[in-house]
Amino acid sequence: MNILLVEDEPGIVLTLTDRLSSEGYAVQSAADGDRGLELATTSGFDLIVLDVGLPGKNGFEVCRELRERGVQTPVIMLTARGQVVDKVVGLKLGADDYVTKPFEMAELVARIEARLRRSPASGLVSREAYQFGDIRVDFRRAEVFRESAPVELSAREFKLLCYFIEHRQATLSRDELLNEVWGYESMPSTRTVDVHIAWLRQKIEPNPKHPQYILTVHGLGYKFVG
Ligand code: CA
Repeated sequence: MNILLVEDEPGIVLTLTDRLSSEGYAVQSAADGDRGLELATTSGFDLIVLDVGLPGKNGFEVCRELRERGVQTPVIMLTARGQVVDKVVGLKLGADDYVTKPFEMAELVARIEARLRRSPASGLVSREAYQFGDIRVDFRRAEVFRESAPVELSAREFKLLCYFIEHRQATLSRDELLNEVWGYESMPSTRTVDVHIAWLRQKIEPNPKHPQYILTVHGLGYKFVG
């Protein structure tokens, strides 16, 4: 796993590089915003740790420009203590998480690990849209299109599809889908999952009788491979 560290304080760079290297990560660092942006757009990183206060472009500008250029690498921002505004702005501009300075090294490492675990291939999924076959899912507008025609999904079907996309290639049990997509507010049975998946297949599969995106994994559950 390759991590880019954009930070201008040499002490933090040194400590973090040592610690992350000892955890098995390959670390590259940049001491200002422009260099960070250049590295992040030209090399493949699995995650970026981005300080807000930087010479040149600040962390917010770097994050915004990255997202504008279509770079979807997860970003953990380092913000000053108590600056709630920083966190809100950072998340709005496309950061995935933030850690407040001064931080415990163990906390940052835990956040990095959590982020990398959650999105093993997150560089491929944009926060705005996801395309598979001729289906395009617009997350912000909560709309789905086949080519340019809208596909009408219920709120539950949409949530189910989003969950599949977030966890593509993973086998998901009916119980997990029930817990994550339906939650505990109702008491549906696992049969409910099967029914909704059948409906979803009717709407997004080219041939619902022979699904190519939402596959049945016999005895286990379902797997999305779009
Ligand atoms: Ca700084």
